[in-house]
Amino acid sequence: MRTMTRSEALFDEAVGLIPGGVDSPARSFNGVGGAPLFIDSAEGSTIRDVDGNGYIDYVGSYGPLILGHAHPDVVQAVQDAAAKGTSFGAPTALETELAQAVVEALPSVEMVRFVNSGTEATMSAVRLARGFTGRDKIVKFAGCYHGHVDALLAEAGSGVATHGLPATAGVPKAAVEDTLTAPYNDPDAVQGLFETFPTEIAAVIVEPVAGNMGVVPPEPEFLERLREITQRHDALLIFDEVMTGFRVAYGGAQERFDVTPDLTCFGKVIGGGLPVGAYGGRLDVMEQIAPTGPVYQAGTLSGNPLAMAAGLATLRKLQEPGVYEQLEERSEELQEGLNEAAQDAGVPMVVQRVGAMLGPFFSEHPVRNYSDAQRVDTERFARLFWGLMARGIYIAPSTYEAWFPSLAHSADDIQRTVDAAYEALKELA
Ligand code: PLP
Repeated sequence: MRTMTRSEALFDEAVGLIPGGVDSPARSFNGVGGAPLFIDSAEGSTIRDVDGNGYIDYVGSYGPLILGHAHPDVVQAVQDAAAKGTSFGAPTALETELAQAVVEALPSVEMVRFVNSGTEATMSAVRLARGFTGRDKIVKFAGCYHGHVDALLAEAGSGVATHGLPATAGVPKAAVEDTLTAPYNDPDAVQGLFETFPTEIAAVIVEPVAGNMGVVPPEPEFLERLREITQRHDALLIFDEVMTGFRVAYGGAQERFDVTPDLTCFGKVIGGGLPVGAYGGRLDVMEQIAPTGPVYQAGTLSGNPLAMAAGLATLRKLQEPGVYEQLEERSEELQEGLNEAAQDAGVPMVVQRVGAMLGPFFSEHPVRNYSDAQRVDTERFARLFWGLMARGIYIAPSTYEAWFPSLAHSADDIQRTVDAAYEALKELA
């Protein structure tokens, strides 16, 4: 009988103490079978498990690690901050400095409030939109994931999609009564909702590039139409740039697609791998937040100095010339390499990408919304996943999660990934 790996032994132990052995369902291997790797350490593009195996990593902590793992600047910044105290419950200059960097990066953001996760950011932005407009309804898109906010779990992507959950237990009917959903890339459906509820919708919240049903780019005009429809009905447009912010461009998807939202949610990259979220936008809207306004939102550890320092170190690096060109180039090489590998192996697969977020679908056709994404071959994905793992490539254990190339991925890493994918895909043909 094969002896257990250390990962398997640790997983066995964890399962008795932590639901499913994981602190976030996205980490569970339920979608592909088997036990998750337990990680010992990581550096640059390489992640190392507790059994001593190294992998080229495209999970990147689900998006934050755009500089790669344990970047020396980030590690130093966190060490320096920690040595001065880990949290004060009082403001620090680091918060203003990071706020300044965010405001400078995005013309739509005049003021920003830091929180501790993407979930907090979207939850707070929705509350603010409701408080500002005095309306209750919100529109979200099927397959978009905005964190585990009660009102936003309807038809959500990411782990909710991976685990095939039709709805989430524990969410009261009343919490989703005012949530309206529309198909992604379908502005006419949104127009229809506004015709039905012309003065009741507070906001439309959207992932400007969907990254939680696999990667689904916005079609031309989709985001512009959302801007125009919301403006016409005095509703707010919220871009959830938790994944896309500082990734698909320094100024996020709004820079890349040249559409200006009223509010933007951030997370992931702005925390450089530490727990951070933020939401920001128009001054007149942001001033409605307590203590200047009546919309309450707070946090014991919000603006935490370690997280602010890690975020600042990350953004400083991202301001260097050529950084986004390099991300684009490597990501394009990976996309093209994977597409060719699938073609050569005779497996129908499309790789969709915007900047440094991408993902393959086992499908003959491009995927443009959640119902397309639900039709892809997930059994094939599981086999690709294990084929890549066996060849030293680590991706998220779900067809609904994006791959995140970082600045630490070398041309050689990309080539090794493409070669491994070809070998793995050949086994599927
Ligand atoms: N919004 C988007 C677009 C996300 O991808 C995620 C997480 O993956 C969230 C919100 C929630 O962020 P967090 O997991 O930090 O709560």
